[in-house]
Amino acid sequence: MLYKKRKKFLLIIFFLFLLFLLTSCTNESAENPEKKAQDKEFSGGYLYITFLDVGQADCIFVMLPDGKTAMIDAGNNDDETKIINFLKKMNIKKIDYLFGTHPHEDHIGSMDSVINNFDIGKIYMPYVTTTTKTFKDVLEAVKKKSLKITSAKGGMEITPSQDVKIEVLAPNSKNYEDLNNYSIVLKIIYKNTSFLLTGDAEYISEKEMINNNYDLKADVLKVAHHGSSSGTSIEFLKAVSPKYAVISYGKGNDYGHPHKETIDKLNKMKIKILSTAENGDITFKSNGEILQLIKK
Ligand SMILES: [Zn+2]
Repeated sequence: MLYKKRKKFLLIIFFLFLLFLLTSCTNESAENPEKKAQDKEFSGGYLYITFLDVGQADCIFVMLPDGKTAMIDAGNNDDETKIINFLKKMNIKKIDYLFGTHPHEDHIGSMDSVINNFDIGKIYMPYVTTTTKTFKDVLEAVKKKSLKITSAKGGMEITPSQDVKIEVLAPNSKNYEDLNNYSIVLKIIYKNTSFLLTGDAEYISEKEMINNNYDLKADVLKVAHHGSSSGTSIEFLKAVSPKYAVISYGKGNDYGHPHKETIDKLNKMKIKILSTAENGDITFKSNGEILQLIKK
């Protein structure tokens, strides 16, 4: 009798154990789709763009949804540590597309260090030279790594991956009086979201882009020339019609950037202004449809 009771008891325990196993299995499969969605979020599908706070200078880093990378400008000479640490912290080994918008120090200052410290895919610069040491340092770094510079001009198109397009919208002339107007202007498009990065382009270049009937519309505009009144005309702003304007500048700079005229125009058009001086590094995230400001 006692033996029978014990057998029954053991059977109940066994069934309870089976039931436990079954429930935990069901739970796991129920969790799987969510887990998969999470993995997807972290493994790709998003484009990230960061406007680094490099003081009175420009440096923009883009992580494409497939893990490829782009850098547009590389701050001043003394921004080397900041830029390299930023990339190393993100475990970046290679810059697939490196752009020097124009050969002024505040745009190509630390480009030699970026070239020396990381694998580089392609380098784009405008077809113009200067005699500064900063520019020579970049050329030397390029030569040392047996790379070559591709001259960028309006009308070029780069397709890094299926859903991402990088359009070169300027420069559109061969000769300009001011080096700023040689600035490479880029439009980075990820499905229905886009970013217009204007270097230090001034009115002349803006007019050329408008006259060429380029589609300038973008969600985020990197305001030209640190918010100087030498660029950002009302016509240009109307054509871009951005939700956000990002101004890259250093507090208390010698040029008085950003100029009041530019800020007034942006405010009049109710464009949300962000700046590296006020906000530090600024990062946007896009899934191709929705744009999110994730760090400011
Ligand atoms: Zn500049």
